[in-house]
Amino acid sequence: KSRTFTMIKPDAVENGHVGAILEKISASGFKIVAMKMTQMSKTDAENFYAIHNERPFFSELVTFMTRGPIVAAILEKENAVSDFRTLIGATNPSDAADGTIRKLFATSLGENAVHGSDSDENALIESVFHFSGREIF
Ligand code: ATP
Repeated sequence: KSRTFTMIKPDAVENGHVGAILEKISASGFKIVAMKMTQMSKTDAENFYAIHNERPFFSELVTFMTRGPIVAAILEKENAVSDFRTLIGATNPSDAADGTIRKLFATSLGENAVHGSDSDENALIESVFHFSGREIF
């Protein structure tokens, strides 16, 4: 089995979707092996999204991701990274397939409810960014 990293973003927490999103993740065969509610600082968000720092939406993304709590988690399943990207759907909820988490719960292209790692390598980097060894099971 492999692992991926996810965040339930501030929009979905504000809108009361944490329980429904975790239910959908569990029902789709992912085991939660780490989880916490936390809030990213400006520096955290700038570092986490450093790959996007030249993009026009970077400051909007940092403001959004720091405006309230998130739920960070590590998920385990066969083909975790790719199967989780399928479960969350396209970045823009209006392009996301029916039944996907973004189709069901996202607000807009920027405020799209959830993050999912895009590779095994990034899943590990992002997991270590948010969790210490004692918080991962
Ligand atoms: P994530 O990395 O959060 O799983 P993703 O891989 O689907 O999302 P990326 O292209 O890596 O999408 O963009 C990272 C995040 O930046 C998006 O999830 C979204 O919140 C935000 N974002 C992307 N494009 C835009 C845009 N054009 N305007 C505003 N925000 C955007």
